[in-house]
Amino acid sequence: MRYNFAMSTPAIITRFAPSPTGALHVGGARTALFNWLYARHHDGKFLLRIEDTDRKRSSEAALKAIMDGLSWLGLDWEGGAVSQYSRASAHAEAAQKLLAEGKAYPCYCSPEELAEMRDTAKKEGRSMRYDGRWRGRDPSKAPKNVSPAIRLKAPRDGETHIKDLVQGEVTVANKQLDDMVLLRADGTPTYMLAVVVDDHEMGVTHVIRGDDHLTNAFRQTQLYVALGWETPEFAHIPLIHGADGAKLSKRHGALGVDAYREMGFLPEALRNYLLRLGWGHGDDEIISTEQAVQWFDLDGAGKSPSRFDMDKLTNLNGHYLRASANEDLCALVLPKLSETPLSNAVRERLLKGMPTLKNRAKTLVELTENAAFYVRERPLPLNDRAKKILDADALDRLRAIHHPLAGLDAWSVEAIEDAIRRFADAQEIKLGAIAQPLRAALTGAGVSPGVFEVMEALGRGESLARIEDAFNMKNQ
Ligand code: GLU
Repeated sequence: MRYNFAMSTPAIITRFAPSPTGALHVGGARTALFNWLYARHHDGKFLLRIEDTDRKRSSEAALKAIMDGLSWLGLDWEGGAVSQYSRASAHAEAAQKLLAEGKAYPCYCSPEELAEMRDTAKKEGRSMRYDGRWRGRDPSKAPKNVSPAIRLKAPRDGETHIKDLVQGEVTVANKQLDDMVLLRADGTPTYMLAVVVDDHEMGVTHVIRGDDHLTNAFRQTQLYVALGWETPEFAHIPLIHGADGAKLSKRHGALGVDAYREMGFLPEALRNYLLRLGWGHGDDEIISTEQAVQWFDLDGAGKSPSRFDMDKLTNLNGHYLRASANEDLCALVLPKLSETPLSNAVRERLLKGMPTLKNRAKTLVELTENAAFYVRERPLPLNDRAKKILDADALDRLRAIHHPLAGLDAWSVEAIEDAIRRFADAQEIKLGAIAQPLRAALTGAGVSPGVFEVMEALGRGESLARIEDAFNMKNQ
């Protein structure tokens, strides 16, 4: 049975085919993104297939992590997630068809015989190739009570070509490839068979994946030919390396997408960053998803491995934070700042403070930390720096400035700044000698956005109350 979504035959169908054995790593997320963009660009469909045939290594938790990661990144797929395991009978059927047509054969090799072939190959310094001993053998010679594996009768002469949309034309001599197993002796399909049958039946037209699968593409091509099916287009994208050029590992930031979410990255920033890892459009660095959909094609994919650079990702995230609407950022930050709903007045305060807060943060985690003082209840806890700033002289100045501030006609950045500057002039002190105590009293810290903006956002009542709290404090 071909899937319904293939019936209407839209021009392009791509898929992401993760094995649910762990988190959705950046490499997988980039593969998914490229497939999603390619489908979107061509008005096609992006499908999700879960390669869960390895029952021991597959888990529900990993499946959930992958789906959550894709959803968070906004990479939505058409229809449900297709379980490869549930399609075992379709895989077996394809192998039986090849068997019936004489394009596959039963192989009764014992594990010992295969181990011997492996040993010989090792001694000769080459990779293991099955020697084809059951290829032409009379099945009546088969040992009793042994279930055979089913192998493809692969071409022995000639070459297999792939016109890869990223790697270009790649060729392998058929004698380099052995007769691969399609069905194991226990009747379970191999990855090679399952992928081909599923891609065909799901109507996949373009297989975009990491170039670690390039050698598999040769065998898969042989299988397509044997089955008489049209081979999809292949595009094998170079893997992601760490900043030091070595294959990406945890040490380099090869973490699950969920870890980046925890670290305070926005999905649009990660999406933009992953797109630029191995794909380019001139010198453009900031590429919105709409632009990416418009521009994405495989011509822009590079042939050499890209390097994962945490600093670049962080800077890009800063850009997306600055570009985000203040309301959206408040909605992301508020649940982290308080478990219980906050009053409208407090929410309003945070919203007013957001324009300056977002200019100073590179991640949501940083933004949340910096924003905390807006929603904290009085009296504010003071950090060590703030305590140090609020010495006896500083408290005297706070007492002295309370009155002019309370009497201001308008509570605006300009009016507040004007009053504070006039105060500093009159007292013959530097602006910092009053601005720093104000900052410490208003935010509980020695570093914050500009103190005039902070006061405007906090509002007159809250600002004055925080100043009073400070000078009424004992034991300073
Ligand atoms: N399940 C394979 C993997 O996780 C992908 C196979 C494919 O894309 O053809 O790497």
